[in-house]
Amino acid sequence: MSGVETMREQREESNTMRIPNFELAYRGTPPWDIGRPQKEYIQLEQAGEIVGSVLDVGCGTGENALYLAEQGHEVWGIDFTPTAIQKAQEKAAQRHLTATFRVLNVLELHTLGRTFDTVIDSGLFHVFGDEERPLFVDNLAAVICRGGTYFMLCLSELAPKLDYGKLKDFLSDSDNLKDFLHSLPDSDELKDLMPNFDKLKEGEYGPRRVTQAEIKELFRDGWRINYIRQATMESRMGPGVRLGWLSSISKE
Ligand code: SAH
Repeated sequence: MSGVETMREQREESNTMRIPNFELAYRGTPPWDIGRPQKEYIQLEQAGEIVGSVLDVGCGTGENALYLAEQGHEVWGIDFTPTAIQKAQEKAAQRHLTATFRVLNVLELHTLGRTFDTVIDSGLFHVFGDEERPLFVDNLAAVICRGGTYFMLCLSELAPKLDYGKLKDFLSDSDNLKDFLHSLPDSDELKDLMPNFDKLKEGEYGPRRVTQAEIKELFRDGWRINYIRQATMESRMGPGVRLGWLSSISKE
């Protein structure tokens, strides 16, 4: 088997493992799905940094995409979780907004066959494993026009580990999640939803933290890093716990 084939095998394996997890999460309301755009993206738009057509990668239920559509951008949103895309489409219809939402793996972005002026990412990059990161960057290059900019909002290494007690309170207090958890047939399914469930107790649960050095290394060739600045990621678990990096990276 060639190296490329091996990589593809691994990639498919990790994706098939993750799709059901996200699918289950979106049957309820996951902590990151805050029902409004992330404030960092509102600020970018207000500062005039978001230009032209926009692709939202890993768009979830579409709040950032729909906000930018409302501001007059042509917007596409891509996510591999069908329930998330369905919710995004329903919101667009309810709000009388025009945006194109598609179910697609972002590691197949090149199949879109078109480019955008701006690509936004709110909480997607930090879910990738090491082997997926360069594949994602290659796919990104295929859909951004020359001079176009990729904005990435990810959790940083400065974000404290999640507090197990806090997460437990959230899971039992939130109506949505309570309904969702009660609807689960058995605990195996819960374990499937949270593969790190055991680690949760040690406070290790949560997406991977990303360092500035990793971002710089990955976007070294063919890209210009305009800035990487400290940012916050809002979540339904309360303020102040999710420190992130907001990166602005243009394709040369
Ligand atoms: N941007 C959204 C969702 C962030 S959570 C928000 O801010 O609310 C990460 C999202 O990435 C999930 O919706 C998940 O379904 C999606 N995702 C993860 N890996 C993906 C992949 N390989 N291709 C497409 N979507 C992916």
